[in-house]
Amino acid sequence: MKKPIKWVKKGPRGTFLPSDDLKKKAWVTNASIYKKALKNPVAFWGKLAREGLDWFKKWKKTYEWKPPYFKWFIGGKLNACYNALDRHVESWRRNKVAIIWIPEPVNEECRILTYYDLYREVNKFANVLKKLGVKKGDRVGIYLPMIPEVQMAMLACARIGAIHSVVFSAFSGQSLNQRMNDVEAKVLVTADGYYRKGKTINLKTNADIGVKGTKIKHVVVVKRMGNDVKMVKGRDHWWHELMKNAKLYYKPEIMNSEDTLFILYTSGTTGKPKGIIHATGGYLTQAYWTTKWDFDIHDEDLFWCTADVGWITGHTYGCYGPLLIGATMIHYEGAPNYPECDRWWEIIENHGVTIFYTAPTAIRMFMQWGNEWPKKHDLSSIRILGTVGEPIDNDAWMWYFKHIGGGRCPVIDTWWQTETGGTLINALPGIGPFIPTVAGRGFPGTKNDILDESGKPVPVGEGGYLVMKNPFPPGMLRGVFKNPKRYKKTYWSVYGDKYYYTSDGARFWDKTGNIRLTGRVDDVLKVAGHRLSTAEVEDALNKHDAVIECAVVGSPHKIKGEVPVAFVITTGRKPSDVLKKELVKQVEKVIGPTARPGEIIFVEDLPKTRSGKIMRRILKNLMTDQTLGNITTLSNPESIEKLKKIVGYKGSG
Ligand code: AMP
Repeated sequence: MKKPIKWVKKGPRGTFLPSDDLKKKAWVTNASIYKKALKNPVAFWGKLAREGLDWFKKWKKTYEWKPPYFKWFIGGKLNACYNALDRHVESWRRNKVAIIWIPEPVNEECRILTYYDLYREVNKFANVLKKLGVKKGDRVGIYLPMIPEVQMAMLACARIGAIHSVVFSAFSGQSLNQRMNDVEAKVLVTADGYYRKGKTINLKTNADIGVKGTKIKHVVVVKRMGNDVKMVKGRDHWWHELMKNAKLYYKPEIMNSEDTLFILYTSGTTGKPKGIIHATGGYLTQAYWTTKWDFDIHDEDLFWCTADVGWITGHTYGCYGPLLIGATMIHYEGAPNYPECDRWWEIIENHGVTIFYTAPTAIRMFMQWGNEWPKKHDLSSIRILGTVGEPIDNDAWMWYFKHIGGGRCPVIDTWWQTETGGTLINALPGIGPFIPTVAGRGFPGTKNDILDESGKPVPVGEGGYLVMKNPFPPGMLRGVFKNPKRYKKTYWSVYGDKYYYTSDGARFWDKTGNIRLTGRVDDVLKVAGHRLSTAEVEDALNKHDAVIECAVVGSPHKIKGEVPVAFVITTGRKPSDVLKKELVKQVEKVIGPTARPGEIIFVEDLPKTRSGKIMRRILKNLMTDQTLGNITTLSNPESIEKLKKIVGYKGSG
């Protein structure tokens, strides 16, 4: 075997730096880029937008800020699908592989789609959507598993100027229904089912629940499994039948830079998810450059982002980003441990993946399964590793670095959010440093800070709240769909409309602006990397007849990072294991299996303020054995002693 190249070398203070080999190869190697970009961030992004994308018409004004709204590339015209496909089809990349799709069953063939293959399918599906009556600006729901039709459907929407709203396929029918109602979708694209750990999941049954009472007139169903599904006459259509006679070309619609490309729902602090709006030109610019620079992707690379397309990571790094830069990517349908715990490592070895991007929760899972699984495989093709979704602890970082990267590859820890559209804080491969548990610096051309409660910047090493500063990065959200109030309140009210408030705690690691993220400071949980609000879980539980009141808090979990724990007061029924199971099922039914509570704790009383507000902070401290703080202001301080016994509190106070 050829000796694998070392892409990193040791740096000071336990850090790693790019090796000369990596510096020779990387797109960006000179740290002066940060300083230069900050001299005039607007001009910097303007240059990136011009160089990265093909525009039908150049913009008149690069940036405008009317707090709390901002716009990029005003007057510019382009089409996202044209940038992801047409321009490659017109180049030498026409027959380059765009997607290697790997089905979960090991005996099933992979599907290899070249840029031309994808282009042809997308054009056809664009015509299908048009025929179903979808017009520019209409919303299309996409509820698909990890099959290539998901990228086809997204790009077809972009081609005709429709706005896609993808819903994670493991969300329940009720979750889908809530989102489809809010977004007022006209058409839904779904599948009969998919594989998960060898089992067939019937997706169509959920989709039928999702469509009920919405404005959806047509449902397009991909036949992935061939399982028995009910098709509603006049409403439901098979994808392959509609595609049979579809025309081969649809001229891409000319879109304004600020036209909405997609709406993606994410959890906030209330029970109702919010529709995050992303605009075409800005989002694509950030997607293009962060994909290219963060992961240092070159034409010969094979990139694999393991995130489901139902989340923002899957949108930006499992669809738009890699296609915009003309890369080749892996798209895997199934579970990481099917049929065995080395499925991912087998895929990396078999296909020669060079850049691999996953989440800390997955890394921790593999750590628990044991080192022997990655050891069975030759992972020497890997050059760069990435992580996203939650803070990564030192053990997980080092394990990933050592056992997957062979101690040779940088770990790029990318901090970002559904709202930011693309990554915003991370080290760049050709510059570094790569610091365990520290994400890195703000992407060139972006400005951040860490503030204390009063809005003053904190010194290096001290904790505070992460904010973004003007000019706001082009890929950031343009609003919350149909809810400007929520947009203003969530992001632009904590420190006024000068700062975008991230809801994340952070501290500077050094003077150059390297940042360690410490986690959410609101009621948003990250469960196995999936974003979830405690209020959503409470709403789901409250729908059960036996629940009179409940409070949900996040509790630390070794693998998943956090899990929801529910404190429940019952009515009419005595607490029992049967009821516990029913309540867990209830959450699965209303939200989906990702929201499953780790524990249901039956209680008689919940700690409340005099105005009746449940003190979730106290519950959280009780669960984690932390000091409870002042409880004398509670209306029912006596509830605390009982709760201490129930949870086996070991803290003091
Ligand atoms: P989502 O919108 O689902 O991508 O979740 C965004 C949230 O995930 C952020 O607000 C952070 O709390 C967390 N997050 C994402 N990436 C990182 C990271 N690299 N380090 C720490 N936290 C992260």
